[in-house]
Amino acid sequence: MTIKIVVKTCRFGLGVFASEHINRGAEILRFEGPFVSADHPLNQGCSESYLIQIGPREYFYPKAPGRYVNHSCNPNAGLSNRFFLIALRDIAPSEQIFFDYSTTIDNDPWSMPCGCGEPSCRGIVGEFRHLPEHVQKTYLEKRVVAPFIAEHATCGQGSLFSEPVLALASSLVDTAESILPVLQV
Ligand SMILES: [Zn+2]
Repeated sequence: MTIKIVVKTCRFGLGVFASEHINRGAEILRFEGPFVSADHPLNQGCSESYLIQIGPREYFYPKAPGRYVNHSCNPNAGLSNRFFLIALRDIAPSEQIFFDYSTTIDNDPWSMPCGCGEPSCRGIVGEFRHLPEHVQKTYLEKRVVAPFIAEHATCGQGSLFSEPVLALASSLVDTAESILPVLQV
């Protein structure tokens, strides 16, 4: 079953909204778009904020409607296994859909000021490694952290993360490895 969503204007420009009730855990959309390298021209200027990082120097440029999913520091959705936007809680019709961009950013100097307005707003969107530990754990427990970040955490960059975060990252890597061959493009 395809979840019905709609792109319309919001205070961030364009945003993605639910046009029907979405159950927690449901797949909202699959991100699709061309792959680009860190040096690609799309990785500069205003298009840069649309890119989704999927590896240390690998990105993709999502087509609409995925391109218009905005960031929130208290999101109702998350990116699972690189390409799938899933609902982290029940989402009501006409509610805007967000994910936390920091769950896909690592080893990248890009950042942006955040105006999401949530009480838990961090004020800036940047790398996963700079999130507070409890936020890292929450996203890892919900399995909505880019697999390459989990891999980094467990391969040589361990000192950046606490032991509980590393343990959660390891379990995410195990799952990612079993699924990734299917998604290789
Ligand atoms: Zn925020």
